[in-house]
Amino acid sequence: MSYFEVTPDIVRVVGDESIEDEINACYIIFDSEIAIIDSGTPQTPKNDILNCIGDYGRNAEDVAYILTTHEHYDHFGAHAWLKKKTNAKIVAHQKAEATLSNPKKLSTDHYMLGKSDKFMLSFYGSPTDRLHACNVDQTVEDGDTISFGNIDLEVIYTGGHCAGHVFYYEPRSKAIFIGDEALMYPGDSYKYYIDFTGDASRRFKALKGLLNMNWKLLCPIHDEAYMKTDGMEMLRMAIDGHKQWNQTIIDVLNEYGKEMSTGKLAREAEERMGISWGPQMSRLIDHSTVYMHLLALKKAGKVDGRGEYDKARWKLSAEALLEEFDSELAF
Ligand SMILES: [Zn+2]
Repeated sequence: MSYFEVTPDIVRVVGDESIEDEINACYIIFDSEIAIIDSGTPQTPKNDILNCIGDYGRNAEDVAYILTTHEHYDHFGAHAWLKKKTNAKIVAHQKAEATLSNPKKLSTDHYMLGKSDKFMLSFYGSPTDRLHACNVDQTVEDGDTISFGNIDLEVIYTGGHCAGHVFYYEPRSKAIFIGDEALMYPGDSYKYYIDFTGDASRRFKALKGLLNMNWKLLCPIHDEAYMKTDGMEMLRMAIDGHKQWNQTIIDVLNEYGKEMSTGKLAREAEERMGISWGPQMSRLIDHSTVYMHLLALKKAGKVDGRGEYDKARWKLSAEALLEEFDSELAF
């Protein structure tokens, strides 16, 4: 089993590598009561979460809360199992609730899997198949507080990576649990993902917000916890990656000079960014990050787009053609 002390009261439990080198993990916050933040996939780290609690001389009954950063299979995968073992309250943002109680929504709403995607995933093994539904005992919104032991955990709504994404801030250690808003792979701030329920400008806002927040420990799920200096560096890289996506999309549209489809644009932009997803992840997430950036750019008046996702056609907006692009692309 592997777990690491972030502080004497905060432990990161790390599971086996899952699909395509993704590292799954969760955090445990110890006080007179215990809270678990995310639960990994249905397979891992699963048992290690309770084994870790046992190693700290504590019992499953001490767990008061199972908290959810967001509604993806590798974050609520063992919620139902943990609920049975601990009888703790499951907490998630109100926009995550429907997916936790009906994980099939992942295929339809979040990943929008087509027939061929589902067929191919049946060979690789779709991670969404083995998910158990769970009831959310308490929904939260931005500004809410979750209290256990002597800790008042603050909820910050972000909704960038997907619609129901939140941060949890633990004021005693000044630790902020940021789920998947910054990155999905260790140290790779450019290879992130926004699903079809997410929002690129909300993600950008969440990352910029972290630059000015009073935290000492930045705790992503798929990467180790960062102290302030390294965490700030990682955030700046993540912000650069976000801006680079916008700029690359605009460059491609500018050079192509006429309308192009989402698929063609995505392939070209991903190649320029040096981004390649393996077959399993690519089936799950396809080009949604590019598409969500395009929607945000459209809202900001930088591009014109018509049609729905895979049939949509995109070009630079007439106004955007007349102006010099601000590299900040602050929208
Ligand atoms: Zn995620």
